[in-house]
Amino acid sequence: APHIVWLRRDLRLADQPALYAAAQEGPVICVYVLDDEGAGNRAMGGAARWWLHHSLQAMDRELGKHRGKLILRRGDAADEIAKLAEETGAAAVHAIRHYEPWWRKAQGRLADRLDLRLYDGNYLLPPGTVTTGSGDPYKIYTPFAKSARQCMPQREVLDAPSLTNPDEWPDSGDLDDWNLLPTKPDWAAGFRDAWEVGESAALAQLDDFADRVKDYEDDRNRPSIDGSSRLSPHLHHGEISPMQVWDQLTRHTGEGAETFRGELLWRDYTQNVICQFPAYPSESYRDLGGEKLWRNPNRSHLIAEELEAWQQGRTGYPIVDAGMRQLWQIGWMHNRVRMIAASFLIKHLLIDWRHGEQWYWDCLVDADYGNNGVNWQWVAGTGVDSNMFPRIMAPLSQSEKFDAGDYIRQFVPELAELSDDQIHDPDDKHRPGDYPAKIIGHREARERALSAYREAKGE
Ligand code: FAD
Repeated sequence: APHIVWLRRDLRLADQPALYAAAQEGPVICVYVLDDEGAGNRAMGGAARWWLHHSLQAMDRELGKHRGKLILRRGDAADEIAKLAEETGAAAVHAIRHYEPWWRKAQGRLADRLDLRLYDGNYLLPPGTVTTGSGDPYKIYTPFAKSARQCMPQREVLDAPSLTNPDEWPDSGDLDDWNLLPTKPDWAAGFRDAWEVGESAALAQLDDFADRVKDYEDDRNRPSIDGSSRLSPHLHHGEISPMQVWDQLTRHTGEGAETFRGELLWRDYTQNVICQFPAYPSESYRDLGGEKLWRNPNRSHLIAEELEAWQQGRTGYPIVDAGMRQLWQIGWMHNRVRMIAASFLIKHLLIDWRHGEQWYWDCLVDADYGNNGVNWQWVAGTGVDSNMFPRIMAPLSQSEKFDAGDYIRQFVPELAELSDDQIHDPDDKHRPGDYPAKIIGHREARERALSAYREAKGE
């Protein structure tokens, strides 16, 4: 009897423990179920759907090298997998464990109906297993990471298994019918130029980055250069495992590699947070005064316009606008600029972080339930760690400090001709007519945010 491998955000052959285990047992049927419309499921954003389309094609190509193929189904995941198991007389279903609340539910429902075998494989350490002396999961990153480092490496990286195919293939849906790609307007031209999707591309990207990791410590903060790995969409969709990344970089000992490992652990950490607080991406953990603090775009068209100016990269702050336009053009934004742009929305515009979280969710090819939600709450100061709200980032000096001139020239072409002196904060004489004036002055915004914060707290 065949064994089913239920694929989700783990679209790879190498270091895929569910696929590896199934392949030892008999013929394998790999299936992906598009299930983003069920109650309680968070529908994937547009940019992530674009990525998924190409990632599924790539997975099918990889399986094709073994004369296999990827089966596609659509509907409630647990129901569809159960149906497929019945149709094919499958002996068992194998899957990597996922921790988004809707996947945990689907896993539970399926386990009640058939032989579901779950494996750890998408995190360095299974979420929930790194615990304090008293056996509780960590809430804060630093002690979590310290303790996690001591447990690494947790297991060996697995090779891609050799696969045998079933005598007969079950029916499969047609990827083109899923409408994962944009039609009109086609906003994905920049995505196609920026990315190669799939497992082979992810491995090539890792090799390329291994040569650059020694400079990561400084370079990662400079948006004008390609200083980070750009592995995030590959990691999110599971085209490469974090163990493969960790393993490759154990050969590098410098400060760059050390810092980089810390970033990979951030990814593990955010899963630990959403395991403890499943609604984290939509509910403030710490109440900073709720409705009293935020200016609500649903109540005033002026505030709605400010939110839109932020989304479209027309705030008059070059670094923020460059970031928001990079996001729109290629579905990804540099980490430092993600922070600056998030802080700007929350503090300069005093708009509830959840509006920003949702926008990133829709626009990022790496949109991730844990990473996005946890980072937004971290910037807002509403999260489980220390309250960052009163620490207001100054976008203009950040832009100078991290040398963002060429980054701005690339993504805000109206400013391309400005000198290094002017580009971060053009004065009225140098600001081109088609570039907006600042939506609010920095000092004014800072004072407004801090006094609203004190007032909301009742001070
Ligand atoms: P690198 O610097 O090369 O880091 C390597 C990997 O480590 C990344 O690919 C990522 O998987 C992980 N990582 C790095 N930084 C973080 C972090 N702060 N938190 C969690 N994991 C991290 N990352 C996402 O993958 N998805 C998101 O939806 C997301 N939303 C974010 C929202 C905000 C407001 C902020 C400030 C950050 C967000 N990040 C998110 C984290 C980070 O910005 C990206 O992971 C990083 O920019 C991706 O680029 P890279 O692969 O070149 O990163």
